[in-house]
Amino acid sequence: MIGGGFVGHCCAWLLQQQGHQVQLIAPATAPQGSAAALGLLMAEVYQRRSGRGWRLRRRSMQLLQQWQEQLQLPIQRGLLLLASEPQEWERQQRLVQQSQCLELLSPADLKQRVNQAAVPELPDGVLGGVWSSGDGQLDPMQWIQRLQLAGAEQGLERVEANVIGINGNGGGPWTLRLDNGSKLSCDWLVIAAGLGSSGLLESLGHSLPMEPVLGQALELQLGSEPPAWNGCLIWKGINLVPRPNRRLWLGATVEPGDEASPPALAELQSLEGTAPSWLQQAQVLRQWQGLRARPSGQPAPVLEQPKPRLLVVSGHYRNGILLAPACAEWAATQIQES
Ligand SMILES: Cc1cc2nc3c(=O)[nH]c(=O)nc-3n(C[C@H](O)[C@H](O)[C@H](O)COP(=O)(O)OP(=O)(O)OC[C@H]3O[C@@H](n4cnc5c(N)ncnc54)[C@H](O)[C@@H]3O)c2cc1C
Repeated sequence: MIGGGFVGHCCAWLLQQQGHQVQLIAPATAPQGSAAALGLLMAEVYQRRSGRGWRLRRRSMQLLQQWQEQLQLPIQRGLLLLASEPQEWERQQRLVQQSQCLELLSPADLKQRVNQAAVPELPDGVLGGVWSSGDGQLDPMQWIQRLQLAGAEQGLERVEANVIGINGNGGGPWTLRLDNGSKLSCDWLVIAAGLGSSGLLESLGHSLPMEPVLGQALELQLGSEPPAWNGCLIWKGINLVPRPNRRLWLGATVEPGDEASPPALAELQSLEGTAPSWLQQAQVLRQWQGLRARPSGQPAPVLEQPKPRLLVVSGHYRNGILLAPACAEWAATQIQES
């Protein structure tokens, strides 16, 4: 397994569970996508109810529910998607007819929830919203650490290095050259190296073009206002994730390329000029950025077997935390069925 992000850890843990002997190879540095992620799990609020994207989302939510119990890890349940445009509000009204986990909230319903201190004072211009009890959020790095620990207990071997070359064609074992000068060999190779996957595949003559899409996020300390609330809020595509001790994660920008733009961060922090006073007064504790891997010319994520006994589980773009369990299951199935 090459890659120590959320995807690599889900694949490694699941394969270990199924009795395979797994080595996970990645440098000791934080994974650039997963360490930046806010961990929102948006499945029920997904517009489409058919196709691969929907199936992966739904399957991941089922697996996360099981893994949460098995690994004793928290998932923060509930998500409030607010509408800022009439078309968005109309879409939400249609969406609630498709799932029992979704509840349509009119402006009056929302006002009542604010009065009951169930949600904070909302930005001006809210046209309505959808409450999804089936969606939620998890802390990606907390999950990675637990998956790593649980994997290690079952014999998962962690190799801290970069892979700089791959030899093989699937007819025999794969040989990996590491940047610490050593070599490893394996029967099956799973590449879950995010943006690094393209370079690794290129050395095998396989093209997987991907482009980086940068995301910035903030951790804020809230004052005595607003009251603590449950569930994430989503407004104009910006996620507000309540954290313990009156903290809030706010993110993320979507910036093609790998250069962070200060104006984009300012827009995020002000909720595009609609931030209520409690948010304007919040203190910034931490600011970070990360890169998403967006496949060029094909939908995310990339799940493919370019050569015998070689699997690519990559290019997850904006939903890698949500999709990782179902993608790990895909990889495990390919190995099982071969
Ligand atoms: C700001 C931000 C917010 C996000 N919010 C969400 C969210 O709310 N919900 C959601 O579902 N998704 C979210 N995402 C997307 C999510 O973070 C990614 O889709 C996901 O983390 C991809 O995981 P990954 O394991 O494929 O990649 P990564 O986490 O990038 O990990 C790649 C791993 O591969 C390793 N690697 C690379 N090259 C090599 C090599 N040659 N040799 C060995 N190892 C190598 C790296 O070191 C790393 O360990 C967000 C992303 C960003 C940037």
